[in-house]
This record gives sequence, structure tokens and C-alpha cells, in this order.
Amino acid sequence: MSTRGSFKVAVTKEDLVFAAAHFITLPGHRCESLHGHNYRAGVTVEGALDPEGWYVLDFVALKRLMKQLTQELDHRVLLPTENPKLAVARNAGRVTVAFDGAERYVFPAADCVLLPIPNTTVEMLAQYLARRLRDELARGPEAVGGGVHAIELDVEENFGQRASYREVFD
Ligand SMILES: [Zn+2]
Repeated sequence: MSTRGSFKVAVTKEDLVFAAAHFITLPGHRCESLHGHNYRAGVTVEGALDPEGWYVLDFVALKRLMKQLTQELDHRVLLPTENPKLAVARNAGRVTVAFDGAERYVFPAADCVLLPIPNTTVEMLAQYLARRLRDELARGPEAVGGGVHAIELDVEENFGQRASYREVFD
């Protein structure tokens, strides 16, 4: 019998808070009003040990990357660019948002983050952040030995209300 073990490292959510405004579209012709959350993100990385460091990932590097990704969303309006019910357009320093063909919001462009997701649900935000982290890890020196097997990212929008997304690498 052979066995195979793996390790998980996790970064807690205490310093990964981002305050952001958003609204989501709902099934049918429904759309929430603009509102905000103090979101909290957390991440678990699974993988093999680096043969020299005896760790999966350097915590300092993982925290720095997560901080950087969440900071990009902090104090911004989060807008999805792949929602078929929303037209999000940026021009002349402004972002206009139309829902079902009717203009709904105009924001200063500098206050917005346009995200390549269909809706700013916690599920989609978790997936977006997981993929951004994956891409950052792939290009950075943190990808020691390429030993990362999976990333699980969770996002909480209200106390006790959260979603997580897990991506596994072959
Ligand atoms: Zn909300």
C-alpha cells in the first residue's frame, strides 16, 4: 500500500477586508439597488512541500498577494462586464451602467473596478480572486517547485454569509 499526503496552508481574513459597493441582477427583470459590504476574503492553498523550505508557500508572500488583490477592490464600485442584462461602458472618465437598456448609474471611472465576471455575487468574486491568485502564483517566485495542487478562496459579504470556490490543478 502506498500513501500520499498533502498539506494545506490558510491565510485568515482579518487583514483581507475590502469595502465595496455593488448590486447584482436577479432572475427575471430584477436588479438590486446599489449598496455596500465590508467583504472578507480568505484563502487555502493545498500542495506539496517545497523540498528546501519545507513549506507549501511562503506565508508572507501569500498574504502580500492576497492583500494586493483585495486592495484593488477596496473603496470601489464593483461592476461586472459579462452580464447580459447590463451594459457597462467606460468613456471620458465616466462609467455608465444600463440595465435592460435603460441608463441606471453613472460613476467616476476612477471609483470603479470593471470585472470580467457575469455578476458580482460572492461566488463570482471568489472565483475571480482565486484565478487572479493562481495567475500571480504562476508568474511569481512564490511558485516554488510548482507544488500547488489547489486553491480554495472564500468571500464573505455579511457575517455568516459567504461562498467559496475551489480550483484544482492537474
Ligand atoms: Zn450585496
